[in-house]
Order: sequence, then C-alpha cells, then structure tokens
Amino acid sequence: MASEEQISAIKGAKVLMVGAGGIGCELLKTLALSGFQDIHIIDMDTIEVSNLNRQFLFRQSHVGQSKAKVARDAVLRFRPNISITPYHANVKESRFNVDFYKEFDVVLNGLDNLDARRHVNRLCLAADVPLVESGTTGFLGQVTVHLKGKTECYECQAKPAPKTYPVCTITSTPSKFVHCIVWAKDLLFAKLFGDKNLENDLNVRSSDATNLSEHSEDVFECRKGEDIEQYGRRIYDHVFGHNIEVALSNEETWKNRNKPCAIYSKDVFPDKLTKENGKTEKGSTTEDVSAMASLGLKNPQDVWSLAENSRVFYESLRLFFSKRQKEIGNLTFDKDDQLAVEFVTAAANIRASSFGIPLHSLFEAKGIAGNIVHAVATTNAIIAGLIVIEAIKVLKKDSNNYRFSSVILH
Ligand SMILES: [Zn+2]
Repeated sequence: MASEEQISAIKGAKVLMVGAGGIGCELLKTLALSGFQDIHIIDMDTIEVSNLNRQFLFRQSHVGQSKAKVARDAVLRFRPNISITPYHANVKESRFNVDFYKEFDVVLNGLDNLDARRHVNRLCLAADVPLVESGTTGFLGQVTVHLKGKTECYECQAKPAPKTYPVCTITSTPSKFVHCIVWAKDLLFAKLFGDKNLENDLNVRSSDATNLSEHSEDVFECRKGEDIEQYGRRIYDHVFGHNIEVALSNEETWKNRNKPCAIYSKDVFPDKLTKENGKTEKGSTTEDVSAMASLGLKNPQDVWSLAENSRVFYESLRLFFSKRQKEIGNLTFDKDDQLAVEFVTAAANIRASSFGIPLHSLFEAKGIAGNIVHAVATTNAIIAGLIVIEAIKVLKKDSNNYRFSSVILH
C-alpha cells in the first residue's frame, strides 16, 4: 500500500516522540508497524494502574516502571530489528536542547498538558524541525502540523482556557445546569459542610441593604433548640426562597432575563419529614450512608421531580449531620462520595427549577460535578494513525497536503 517513495522516507527518518501515554502507546506501535526504524521517545511518567485500561503496551506487572522504557520493550517484542531509544525524563530538561531537536526529521507530540506542548513547539521552531501536534478529550481528538515558515505554530492561536464561570453567573443569574452544579458544589456544599472560615459568595444581598449588622448572624449555623428538620427547612427556605427574593428585588438584573421563582419548603413538602423514611439505615460506614437508599430511589439515571429533589436535599443534609457529623467543617466535594453527590445533585436541581433550567439525573450531575471526561482508547488509536499519516507527508515534504484533522466519535 505504501509507495516506494513513502517507504524510503519512512526508513531513513529519525523520529522524536514526546509522551508515551494514551496517544503515545498507540503512536509507537503504529510507527513501528508502519516501518519506522529509528524512534526516540521521551516520557517522565511511570505506569499507574489507571493507565492499564487503554495504554495497551503496559501490563499489571509494569506498574511503577518507566512508560518510555516499558513501551520500547513491548514494541521490540514484535519489531525486534528497529531502534527505539527511551528517555525516562522531563522533556524540559536542558539536555533536550535545540541541538538535540536538530537531529530529528520530525517531532510527534502525544502530550497531555499545554505547558509541555508550548515548550516542544518553541524548540521545534528554534531547531526548524516539523512538529505534528495532537490531543484527545473523550470522543474528540485532533492533529495539526506545524512547520516554520509554512504553517502557523502551535502558539499562534490562543488555546481555550480551562472552563471557569463568572461569579455573578453562579451566584445570581445561572442559565445552564452546570452553573447550578458549580453553585451547589462550590458554594452551598462548601458553606454547609466545609471550612466555615473560607470566603464564600453564597449570601446574596440586595444592593441597598443598610443594616446588615442586624443580620450578621450566620444563617448556616444550627440554632439553639433547633432540630435537624427545622434546620434543614430553614436552610432550604434561605437559599431557595429568601435569597431568590432578594435577587428579584434588583430589577435591573431581570430586565432582559427570565425571572427566577422563589421556592419554599412548605410548598414542596408540607408535612413532617423525619419519620416517613421506610428503611432504617444499616451500618454506619461512610459508604453505606445514602439518601437515595433511605428514600427508596433506585435508579441514578432517573430525573427526580422537584419534590423528590427536595426530599433528597433534606435527607442527605440530615444524614451528614447524624451519621457523618465528625467530618462537618472539613469536607470538600468528592465525586466518589455518594452522599455528597446526592446533596449536590438535589441542590443543583432545586436551583435549576427555580431558574427554569431543565433538571438532570444524579448520574448526569455526577459527571458534570466531577468534570469527568473519560479517556477513550479508540480516539487515541485514530489520532495516532492520523499523526503517522501527517508525519509521512512531512517526511515526503508534501506540505501542500498537510491537514488539520479532527475526530468526533459518536
Ligand atoms: Zn506562532
């Protein structure tokens, strides 16, 4: 399938790969199978158990060893006559200088962070060596070719910053479910269960409030003689009722927006709550404590009603205060903490319904809250293939046919 011209370009090439992780494993294998014979590979990482599901050159017995070296050994087993030179090292070390880069015909990046990509880009520019850059996120992936004087470099275009949201959007004018998740996780959860001394934007006040001092008591503190149900209702009414009313009083904010509606506990669950949970909680370890379990909600992919969310909100709050009291004041949100995810899902959904935003299941909310983007082996394999295709064009000096390739798997 390869032309004579291609084969000779491949055989004579000296290639530098940076990164021996998700893309790197696929890339090294594909380079070796495509006929490349002189490959150098830099990676500072050692193999972790969590790599094994997609970095196919590694096995359980390799955990703790150098990725670059184990990847070399694995590929030499099926291509024993090629040369692979591993460097278990940081690509930013000074020995990988301009002269080092000048030895190579092409540099292939399989990196996972902007900083290292920028560093390699600058050295490639300085050494005037072509760079094939790549990246994957879940089902998305892309490959670009950067050659001094021919194409833009990696840094010519601004890269998207990690997603953060303006504070006012989170505290006052959410328009997407993710805004409600950030509010529930970083503001409400932190305020109720985390370090009380940390600054927090949760209390929405009207701009002309004059006598704040009279209200300076912390509404999030449990009051004398208050039982957990009274406390739960008071918190609920404060954050979903009172705070929304205060926000509504600022007419200016709502001129071009849909107004939220205040939600009070008496409208959502008028009756006493405490005794109606069918099951008694078994065990008292952290893992066993679940509002879903005690309310008999089974499927995490169900979207709960406002009333159900309100019950989960109250029940998870009650469980934190009754079963995990020792942790209160020190908790930070953890996507693997079931009760924390239940609380955040419920709180985000109640806020979402206040603002007319569609509600989501616990399963979806957990994904958003944990910002989980699973690495996908298939995406890495496709991207590795595209890198090799572009590398071969570079080696043939076929610059008119360079591609910006992107992949979206469905
Ligand atoms: Zn540039």
